[in-house]
Amino acid sequence: MTERFDFLVIGGGSGGMASARRAAAYGAKTALIETGRIGGTCVNVGCVPKKVMWNTAHVAEIMRHAPEYGFDFTPGEFHWATIKRARDAYIERLNDIYHRNLDVSDVTEITGTAVFKDPRTVIVNGQDYHSENILIATGGTPVVPDLPGAELGITSDGFFELESQPKRVVVIGGGYIAVEFAGVLAALGSEVTLLLRGEVFLRGFDATLRETLLEEMQNAGINILTCVHLARLAQDDAGQLTLVSQSGERMSGFDNAIWAVGRRPMTDGLHLDRAGVEIDPRGFIVTDGLQNTSVEGIYAVGDVTGRKALTPVAIAAGRRLADRVFGGQAEAHLDYETIPSVVFSHPPIGTVGLTEDEAHDMYGESAVKVYQSRFTNMFYAVTSHRSPTVVKLITAGEKDKVVGCHVIGDAADEIIQGFAVAVKMGAYKSDLDNTVAIHPTAAEELVTLR
Ligand code: NDP
Repeated sequence: MTERFDFLVIGGGSGGMASARRAAAYGAKTALIETGRIGGTCVNVGCVPKKVMWNTAHVAEIMRHAPEYGFDFTPGEFHWATIKRARDAYIERLNDIYHRNLDVSDVTEITGTAVFKDPRTVIVNGQDYHSENILIATGGTPVVPDLPGAELGITSDGFFELESQPKRVVVIGGGYIAVEFAGVLAALGSEVTLLLRGEVFLRGFDATLRETLLEEMQNAGINILTCVHLARLAQDDAGQLTLVSQSGERMSGFDNAIWAVGRRPMTDGLHLDRAGVEIDPRGFIVTDGLQNTSVEGIYAVGDVTGRKALTPVAIAAGRRLADRVFGGQAEAHLDYETIPSVVFSHPPIGTVGLTEDEAHDMYGESAVKVYQSRFTNMFYAVTSHRSPTVVKLITAGEKDKVVGCHVIGDAADEIIQGFAVAVKMGAYKSDLDNTVAIHPTAAEELVTLR
């Protein structure tokens, strides 16, 4: 017999869970279908375990500075397996919390793989589920290029399964994941090569951020190779990997190769065709500003839509969708403009709004002003290594409206959230000037720029 729900959510990641719980809070009879572990990418193989590893790398860096701060201290050996165990246990605790949250929110959990039967019916484990409102929030999965030997490499999923630290590792790609993994591994003592197919990493980020990070990654000993187009991977009898470029160049002796070349939508097996849901040429589900797909009553949020693949974006879009469909808020939707983000690189990057180039394109060069300061965080006052901080404000128009705010340096990850509020509210440079600085901090530089 067909079971009926007011809201069927396919995918138990950040977006799906947030939307399901919000809908249930409005009294909608809601079910959430998940094949794997609850929590999706972010909790299981993304933001959460990544941040644990970034914190681990931070501890390593602090220990390196400890003698110059007067501590008679020699760092001991690092045990990868210890932090992996602790990290896994933390994630299991989070999984339990998420199950409980769904339970107390009155969301029915269905474990299994969802397959569309028609636009209103989904089959899971042979059982039909009907709903007038179906949300697709199935997320994404790492891309592995179609090259001979590509399977010898691992992806971010495999990185979090590693039981021991790779000693010599090559990271292929130049996005968030590639620079974050390269930084963590280098800080923990691995020999790291970063392979870019183009000339720069973090394409689309403000050039000042990229240039400063490049400097610091090279200072950290990361070997960055640009314009490399791979042809194949091979493994020798000792298990060591060799990468061969299309021009015949060979790069050898790696324990691990990590593919970090983007993610594709997870729609395999869903049979979107039976529901008539439109996808774009890259396979992402096409959505409008209200998260509607091409089929009435079927919605999509999160990475599967190909729009800003960030956890808080999926959560916000999912909640607003529930507000609109079940909460009587006809206009509720996520505004995708001016979304802040952080790259947990070494040092971290925090960014919101337009890059300098984007501001020039949008407002014209003569209307744009750039305020920038590069300095050394006081933490390095007594250390021989001095990691730089750069803060950059981009303003436009006669009244100097702040249209971009970019920070690279220690604590950039924490600094940017507050400034993102100001930028989102439409702050002018004069608003920042009128804010009294907090001294001595790195953040104060953003309100004292001349
Ligand atoms: P990104 O989309 O950020 O970057 C993909 C990178 O892979 C680009 O540098 C691209 O190069 C490169 N690339 C693509 N194809 C190839 C290829 N065949 N060979 C070599 N390089 C290639 O993807 P990620 O996988 O790093 O991250 C996916 C998404 O997850 C991010 O966009 C982000 O939204 C999210 N994320 C967010 C994090 C955060 O908030 N801190 C952390 C991690 C992920 P090119 O520039 O030349 O196109």
